This record gives sequence, structure tokens and C-alpha cells, in this order.
Amino acid sequence: MTALGTVPDHDDPAPIPLLDLRGVHAGARADLDAVWSTVLAHGRYVGGPELDEFEDRFAAYCEARACVGVGNGTDALELVLRAIGVGAGDEVVVPANTFAATAEAVCAVGGTPRFVDVSPDTLLVDPAAVAAEVGPRTAAVVAVHLFGQMADVDALGRLAAREGLALVEDAAQAHGARFAGRRAGGAGLAAAFSFYPGKNLGALGDGGAVVSDDVGLVERVRRLADHGRSAGDRHRHEVAGRNSRLDTLQAGVLSARLRTLDAENAARARVVDRYRERLPDGFRLVGADPRAECVHHLAVVETDDRDRATAALSAARIGWGIHYPVPCHRQPAFAAPGLRRPVLPVSERAADRILSLPCSPTTTDAEVDRVAAVLREVVR
Ligand SMILES: *Cc1c(COP(=O)(O)O)cnc(C)c1O
Repeated sequence: MTALGTVPDHDDPAPIPLLDLRGVHAGARADLDAVWSTVLAHGRYVGGPELDEFEDRFAAYCEARACVGVGNGTDALELVLRAIGVGAGDEVVVPANTFAATAEAVCAVGGTPRFVDVSPDTLLVDPAAVAAEVGPRTAAVVAVHLFGQMADVDALGRLAAREGLALVEDAAQAHGARFAGRRAGGAGLAAAFSFYPGKNLGALGDGGAVVSDDVGLVERVRRLADHGRSAGDRHRHEVAGRNSRLDTLQAGVLSARLRTLDAENAARARVVDRYRERLPDGFRLVGADPRAECVHHLAVVETDDRDRATAALSAARIGWGIHYPVPCHRQPAFAAPGLRRPVLPVSERAADRILSLPCSPTTTDAEVDRVAAVLREVVR
């Protein structure tokens, strides 16, 4: 170490980022430059051929019939809920262990999120907990496919059919994942995707999409996301919609990035396999359902020693994250007035123990080994 601690010694190993976005994009540089040149030349910066092409490709990738690009993943969720008629007085069942956006979308349409617990092994929504929460005002269930693994859409699909509920997928962390053969995006009534830069399929900015087999539903979302315009007459506004479109440039970027998504997901899987071999006892990788094909959006472990682990990782200049430190039912934004907060022990315990380790398509074996070596010192 140097005296000032700011200039690294020559033998200090390079920092390991939690997610190496610049490295991923450097590998795609020529394709991304070509998108910029093409769009700049043809001059259609909203809509345009890149958008149509991406929507077709992404629907096909998800093995679903239709896709519409929107402004971001949160809007995608909100627009799906609006398009299926969820509104004031309706309840939507949402796992407590998710990003706040899942619940925000429910609130944005005037509905009430009802939080349920997750399964201790996968930390994904527990279908039995959903079944127990369904009541006369329940309109929909959101299956959140967290960390790259799909929720049990078999059990949730059966429940939704039995109870007459809409099953909506929050697939923001699961581009390319499967469960019992079905792709994320094709397993519920409709799915919301995010293309935030850090997702498995990421734009160079914000973006999102709604995917469904229900072509009419996707068209309703398209209208809502484009000022409620009617399909045939752009000056006729059928409903009070909004503006939430996917930019032409971002659509072009996403088509280019989609070509390497499967290879990148496979690279992430190799990173997680190596963690499984190398991590010391005391760091348990979140479990996978045998029916699931994960795309490893994040490499999440559970540990009793999180504070010591994060301190050691930071000291070794290794990136880490916590997804998420406060479960949604404990967030002030979603405290329903007059209602007691539910007690959801699995989510609450996990929030204190989970830790996300570096996991990028570019993460090397040597980097995984360095992370594991640092953690081995923690539990020694
Ligand atoms: C990223 C994310 C969202 C929101 O997507 P944005 O594009 O950031 O609006 C929603 N749900 C989950 C689970 C996410 O990870």
C-alpha cells in the first residue's frame, strides 16, 4: 500500500466491479457504433425501423406472440396493470422481496399491493403464501423473477386460473430464463421487462417492454404508452394515455445486444458455477428450483457474516451489493394507513443476510477465485 492510500501499488490487483458494464459494451463497440450511424442517417428518432425490428425479435426470443417497447420497466408493469383494468379498490399480490418498482406500479394505477413472503431456498414468491393472501378484492398476482430465476409459474398459473386472477410477470431480472420449459415473458398473461443498463439485456439508458401472447393486450399497452392515440388516426385520443415509448436508438442497441444475450447468460452461469465450487462454508448461494433455468442476473449468497464480508470485500476493492436491504413491506412508501404491517419472516431474515457478489459476463475465473479467497479469510 502507498502512504496516501490513493495511488495503488503496482502489485495491487485491479478492482473487481460488481458489474462490468463498460467491459460488456466494449465487446459490442462496432455493433453499437453502427446503430448510432444508421439512426443518425435515417432521422427517425422515435418509432422507426429499429423499434419494429426489436419488438419482433424480442417477442420471438421470449416465445410470445407480441411485444411493445416502452420507456422503462416500471412503466411496463404499470401499463400492463392499466391495460388489464386493475385500478382503485383492487389488490395485487406482490412478493416482499423485490425491487420497489413492482409495488410502485400497483400504487400508480390506484391499486393496493398485498405483500407476501418468499420461499427460504430461492427467495422467490411462495405460491402457498400467495394462495393464503387471495381475497375478494384480489385482481392480479405479480410473479417476480428475481436474481435471474423464474418464480414457480406452474403453481402460480394454476392458482390464477382457479381464482380468476391475472398472472403478471415482472421479468426485469430474467431475460432468457426458463421454468419447466417456458420462457420468461411467455408464462403469464403478460410480462414486463426492464432494459435498464444493468439488466441482463440492457440499453444505453432507460428502456422497457411488455410481452404477451395476447396481441390485443399488447396493442392496448401500445396505445396507452402513446398518448392514448387510436391506431388509425393519430389525432384521435381514445383514452387519456401518456408518453412512455422506447427510443429508436435504444431499440437498435437492444437488437444488437440481443444477439449475444444467450452467450452472456451462459458466461454468467459459469461464474456462478465457479462460486459454487470455490466459496467457503458460511456463504450459501441462493438455491435454484430443479425446473428452473437461471440466467444469473445476480450472484446472491446468504451469510451470517455480512458486515465482516462487505468490509473485507471493500478493503480488497471488490464490488458488492445488497438486493435488497429493506423488504417492500417495510418501506414507508407502502405502509397502508390504518393497516398493521404484515410479518414476513423469510423476507426479513434474508434482507439481513443476502449479499450480491461480482457477476458479469466478463468476470474471470481468477476474479471469482480472488473473491472466494477474501471470503475464506472472513470465516476463518
Ligand atoms: C429493474 C427492475 C424494475 C424496474 O425497471 P426500470 O426499468 O428500472 O423501471 C422492476 N422490477 C424489478 C424486479 C427490477 O429489477
